[in-house]
Amino acid sequence: MSSILSGGSAVAQIDHFINGQRVAGSGGRRGEVFDPASGRLAAHVPLASAAETAAAVAAAAAALPAWAEQTPLRRARILFAFRELLERHLDELAAIVTAEHGKVLDDARGEIIRGMEVVEFACGIPQLLKGEFSGQIGSGVDSWSMRQPVGVCAGITPFNFPVMVPMWMWPVAIACGNTFVLKPSERDPSASLLVAELLAEAGLPAGVFNVVHGDKEAVDALLHDPRVAAVSFVGSTPIAEYIYATGCAQGKRVQALGGAKNHLVVMPDADLDQAVDALVGAAYGSAGERCMAISVAVAVGEVADELVERLAQRVRTLQVGPGTAPGMEMGPLVTRPHLDKVRSYVALGVAEGAQLVVDGRGLAVDGHADGFFLGGCLFDRVTPAMRIYREEIFGPVLGVVRVPDFEAALALVNAHEFANGTAVFTRSGHTAREFARRIEVGMVGVNVPIPVPMAFHSFGGWKRSLFGDHAMHGPDGVHFYTRLKTVTGRWPKDADGMAHFAMPTH
Ligand code: NAD
Repeated sequence: MSSILSGGSAVAQIDHFINGQRVAGSGGRRGEVFDPASGRLAAHVPLASAAETAAAVAAAAAALPAWAEQTPLRRARILFAFRELLERHLDELAAIVTAEHGKVLDDARGEIIRGMEVVEFACGIPQLLKGEFSGQIGSGVDSWSMRQPVGVCAGITPFNFPVMVPMWMWPVAIACGNTFVLKPSERDPSASLLVAELLAEAGLPAGVFNVVHGDKEAVDALLHDPRVAAVSFVGSTPIAEYIYATGCAQGKRVQALGGAKNHLVVMPDADLDQAVDALVGAAYGSAGERCMAISVAVAVGEVADELVERLAQRVRTLQVGPGTAPGMEMGPLVTRPHLDKVRSYVALGVAEGAQLVVDGRGLAVDGHADGFFLGGCLFDRVTPAMRIYREEIFGPVLGVVRVPDFEAALALVNAHEFANGTAVFTRSGHTAREFARRIEVGMVGVNVPIPVPMAFHSFGGWKRSLFGDHAMHGPDGVHFYTRLKTVTGRWPKDADGMAHFAMPTH
């Protein structure tokens, strides 16, 4: 990153990372990156043209043959070395995340560790790539399967986890023998550059992992480049749907994860202390800017009044401030337009007739008047017809929907278009089991508010929260980034002199 004088003050210029080195933007369009805690412009990020994007794809395509031929064990060793470097640079990387995203430092460290778990999973790639073998499937005939890399893969990622979400993708992709072009969010792009440099330091050959910054122009260039074989996307649902439709039409393999509206169902028999703690952390952690954040509390039966009262007490005392300040529970939102959007949803909720029990809009953070802060907001008596219920707000806004019983709670959750994560809080094993079996959502928690699968399982929602057939990382990740080949082999001693015209049956 270089610094130049712009308007009298130093503004950092963020580079791409192509073919093993930093590459300055070509001087075309650029975006602005802010420090959300102060509201100050912190850096300019180049928005790659189609030609710049093509250069990154060309580097990945050139590196592909040698990398695909590399033994899985050697690929894994580079990931082992990277994992050590990542641990050593954890604080530095977390500071970059907090500086551009705004989340509190502990949470930034947490996302890096969750990402590191995928690297650790990918270190087991020799085991993960083992195929199946059947001896003597016919007389003197054996059959075996192998998984081979798909080619150049592209990753397009959102702002809310600038380290972890890319790590859902690229460690598995490159471990499988693919090369990768990452197009991170233009709102917090710097973390990806440090990751690229650590990968190079770990011994990754030039061109295997590239970072190109940009917006729709870069994304469209990736989607239409015939050298790109597979596209992984995480972001909002309208863009996920566009990426899926466009990528598939171009003959690519696509997995596109979209938005969410995650419900936490509180049964009357739940441990209310646990449920309230869980709800506050899951709704307001990272200022609600998590795809697995809980944004709807479903209060079942008589639990509602006490639940709302206890939630309100906690939300009023949330510690909100810069992510670098000790003891903060919630930082600012990522940008001013996003802050304005979330505030407008709070106003909309009031207009729609929901009861605003805690209004965070008046929050003032000392010394940070221009920061993008919003205090926690809590709505009661939200109904399914309201837009604040139907739409993803992606901010520190929790809505309580009151339902009479378990069946109504199930029906409510199952009727929503989003189906990323959900949870039930109950002391009944039967209720929990029924919920887990009958709920139409991809990731389910039982007394666990944010049921993010570990790296060795796969992450993905249902319905309009995921377009495509594969979730990310874990077994699905290995399948997405490889093509299955099945070989049938025979080594006869002598030719049998017969041509076979009927299907062989033994
Ligand atoms: P976003 O959809 O605005 O952007 C995601 C990526 O798409 C970025 O890299 C962006 O540059 C690119 N993009 C934006 N507009 C585009 C366009 N018109 N054409 C092509 N590319 C475009 O999402 P965001 O605001 O960065 O992230 C928040 C969203 O991501 C939320 O909806 C959240 O639920 C979702 N998300 C989902 C998951 C999940 O696992 N399902 C995980 C994290 C975030």
